[in-house]
Amino acid sequence: MNPIGIRSCYDEGKRCAETLFFDYHRQHQLDIKVIRIFNTYGPRMHPSDGRVVSNFIVQALRGENITIYGDGQQTRSFCYVDDLVEAMIRMMDTENGFTGPINLGNPGEFTMIELAEKVISLVGSKSKLVHKPLPPDDPKQRKPDISLAQSKLDWTPKVNLDDGLRETVAYFRQTLDK
Ligand code: UDP
Repeated sequence: MNPIGIRSCYDEGKRCAETLFFDYHRQHQLDIKVIRIFNTYGPRMHPSDGRVVSNFIVQALRGENITIYGDGQQTRSFCYVDDLVEAMIRMMDTENGFTGPINLGNPGEFTMIELAEKVISLVGSKSKLVHKPLPPDDPKQRKPDISLAQSKLDWTPKVNLDDGLRETVAYFRQTLDK
């Protein structure tokens, strides 16, 4: 991790939060549950949230260029919000003393080019792909190992990317129409 880069307040903020939670657990026996959320998306994201899924859908719906940062070969693994919420509830229901950390996400892996093509086709958009500079410290890959969640929470994500994107596109279509 880069402790002083433009993403550091986000990256280090998460790390520091985990540290403090575990200190409270050790010092005050606070019952804690630590989850690590990987790229989650779905209806009710803010249109200018800036994350890749909302950016691409909003751009496609408006017929604007789709902004691919870098060559678009970096991959992400996208988890639909309903799957994440289900896992969170299952985690909260685990026995006292089971703290995690536990990875939650959908391991299915896609390049940003693949994501852009899916979005364009679901929206039926004429948008073109344009390349923009890759932000510093942008990870090449993010893919959760969810074996602990699978065994401990008896959970696995159910919503594939196409179905989740369809719901999300429907939401943004409605929101942007208003
Ligand atoms: N990204 C992109 N175009 C955008 C927004 C993001 O190509 O309009 C890329 C970004 O560079 C990153 C990936 O999509 O490689 C996921 O970005 P996001 O901010 O959604 O999640 P994170 O980088 O935190 O995993």
